Amino acid sequence: MKSLLWVQSGGCGGCSMSLLCAESPGLLSALAGCGVEILWHPALSEASGAEFHALLRRVLNGEQKLDILCLEGAVVTGPDGTGDFHRLSGSGRPMKDIIADLAAVAEQVIAVGSCAAYGGMTAGGDNPTDAIGLQYDGALRGGLLGGAFRAANGLPVINVAGCPIHPSWLLDTLGMLARGNLRTEDLDPLGRPRHFADLLAHHGCPRNEFYEYKASAEKSTDQGCLMEHLGCLGTQAHADCNVRLWNGEGSCLRGGYACINCTAPEFQEPGHPFTATPKIAGIPVGLPTDMPKAWFVALASLSKAATPERLRRNAVADHIIAPPATPKEKP
Ligand code: SF4
Ligand code: SF4
Repeated sequence: MKSLLWVQSGGCGGCSMSLLCAESPGLLSALAGCGVEILWHPALSEASGAEFHALLRRVLNGEQKLDILCLEGAVVTGPDGTGDFHRLSGSGRPMKDIIADLAAVAEQVIAVGSCAAYGGMTAGGDNPTDAIGLQYDGALRGGLLGGAFRAANGLPVINVAGCPIHPSWLLDTLGMLARGNLRTEDLDPLGRPRHFADLLAHHGCPRNEFYEYKASAEKSTDQGCLMEHLGCLGTQAHADCNVRLWNGEGSCLRGGYACINCTAPEFQEPGHPFTATPKIAGIPVGLPTDMPKAWFVALASLSKAATPERLRRNAVADHIIAPPATPKEKP
C-alpha cells in the first residue's frame, strides 16, 4: 500500500469536499482499489492534536514512510516571507516550513487544486497573504519548492489543478502513481496530468452545435453558446469536464455557467467580469488558442450567415422552442 498524507493551507476545503463526491466506486473503495492508504486527512481522520503531531514527527524523522504528500490550498508566505499568517496549530511553526519539510521526505508531491498548484483564488486581488503554489507562483515556475524541485521518485510536483478538482482527476492520478506508471511525459507543460488536461472543456459541451453556427446566448438562461457574449473560456480550458461529467451528469456548461478556465494559472484574475466577453470591434479577444484569428473571424461570419433558423431561435430561449425537422410523411 502507498501511504498518503493530506495537509491543507490557504484554501477553502472545496477540493476535499469534491473528492468526497467520488462515485462508482466511492472514495474509500477507490483508494483501496488504487492501493493507497490514508495516514491522515483533515476531513476523514479522527486523529487530531497530539496524535497528529506524533504522526508528523514519525514521518519527518523517517520512522513512517511517506509515499504521497497532498497539499490542498495555497502556500501562505506572508507577512514578509515569514509564513506567520498560517502556523500549524499546536506547533507554532509556519505551515510553509512544515510543507517544505514534508515535501523533502515524500516519494511524490501532489498539489490538489489550483490554489496549491498556482496560488489560485487565495492569491487573488492584492494577495494579502502572499499566497503561492507549491512549484508555481501564478504562471511562473518557482513557488515554495522552486522550479527545479523533484520529489524522491524524480517527478516534479503533480498539479491536479481545478477549482475544485474532479474526484477522479486525483483518483486516476493516485492509481497511476501506485502502479508506478506515471512519468514526466504524462504531465503537460504546467504539470497537470494529461489524462484530464489533454481535452478542453469545449469537447463534449452540449452547446457545440450553437458554437458551430455562432448562435450565441444573450443571457445566462439561454441555451446558445456562451463564448460570444457571456465569457466562456471552454475553448481554451484544459479539462475534460464535459466528457468526464461531475456527480454523474453535471458540468458548469450544462448548468448554464460559462467556463472560467479554473484549471489554469491566474484564472482568478481574468481582468474582466467572469461572465462578460471582452471584445475589440465586436470580435472576442480570447479566441481558441490553436486557431489563427483571421480564420476564426472568416469562419464565424460565414457560419453566422448559415445559422439554421432552429438554432437562431433556440439559442436565445431557455428551452427548445424549435425542434429539429422530421421527414414529412409519405402520402
Ligand atoms: S482550488 Fe478552489 S475549491 Fe480547491 S481549495 Fe482552492 S479555492 Fe477551494
Ligand atoms: S459554451 Fe463554451 S464550451 Fe460550450 S460550445 Fe460554447 S465556447 Fe464551447
